[in-house]
Amino acid sequence: MPKMRVAQVAGPNAPFEIVERDIPQPYPGSVRIKIQACGICHSDSFTVEGTFPGIQYPRVPGHEIAGIIDEVGPGVVGWSVGQKVGVGWNGGYCGHCTSCRRGDFITCENMQVPGISYDGGYAEYMIAPANALALVPEDLSPTEVGPLMCAGITTFNALRNSGARPGDLVAILGIGGLGHLAVQFAAKMGFHTVAIARGKDKGPLAKQLGAHKYIDSESEDPAKELQQLGGAKIILATVTNAHAMSSVIDGLGINGKLLVVGASMDPIEATPLTLIRKRVGVAGWPSGTSIDSQDTLAFSALTGVRSMNQLFPLERAGEAYALMMSGKARFRVVLTTGK
Ligand SMILES: [Zn+2]
Ligand SMILES: [Zn+2]
Repeated sequence: MPKMRVAQVAGPNAPFEIVERDIPQPYPGSVRIKIQACGICHSDSFTVEGTFPGIQYPRVPGHEIAGIIDEVGPGVVGWSVGQKVGVGWNGGYCGHCTSCRRGDFITCENMQVPGISYDGGYAEYMIAPANALALVPEDLSPTEVGPLMCAGITTFNALRNSGARPGDLVAILGIGGLGHLAVQFAAKMGFHTVAIARGKDKGPLAKQLGAHKYIDSESEDPAKELQQLGGAKIILATVTNAHAMSSVIDGLGINGKLLVVGASMDPIEATPLTLIRKRVGVAGWPSGTSIDSQDTLAFSALTGVRSMNQLFPLERAGEAYALMMSGKARFRVVLTTGK
């Protein structure tokens, strides 16, 4: 039996271990992927810390997967061995729940997530349902694809469905793993793009990513600055700090919306009067489906949007994960298998 290496966790808060396993066989409706790269996302902490309801161990995390179809399972239509593919957070949907019957696959009641529902991308091979696959354009490398499968699609899909139109004032709160991609997407989509982060030092980077203006939230009041520009149509919150989100709501213009993609359990605060006066809203956005991922990849290939990555070999998954959790990564951490 041919073997593969995976980086797995044996239980909640257990350290990463590199183990050998049999290379799995695809079941009906799935494909086997030879993994080339897998980005490390903050949501991998659900797996590492055991905070996702019903998760079973040992488990291989990872939902920012880039690789090549290696074997096609029975009954799979439209995919073939040798195709370059990506898999993201939406790692399969059931097709028969109420959401799926309405074509809203991202809110599938039985949605599968790679690295949580089944073993994910911190490995040399994995099995994924065919409905989770995104086709990768020729001119993107595996390490470029990885982070676009979660950080990329989440910000791209939120922005393109936000209702903002070219020229509208769109602010990106936070320049981190998600934010540094969001700034690029917003600028390339033709929005008047404002980046908000802490400290003067991120200003030149924000401009380099395409922001038309940078607001340092340590020395300026972002809400006031946004109002001076006419008020934001959209503020995309990529940070996980709910207090920071609350503090920018007053920067929204008439009919403006705080659009949240940074996951946190803390409450966002806004007074009813704030919401009423300018008809502003607060909403969230949950990544997207495999075809949305494919659109993200195609748009990125077309416009030059790229994640800034720090690469680690699969064997150093523990170290790479710790760097991501430290908040010091610039900006995404990506594992490579050498395949
Ligand atoms: Zn993610
Ligand atoms: Zn469903």
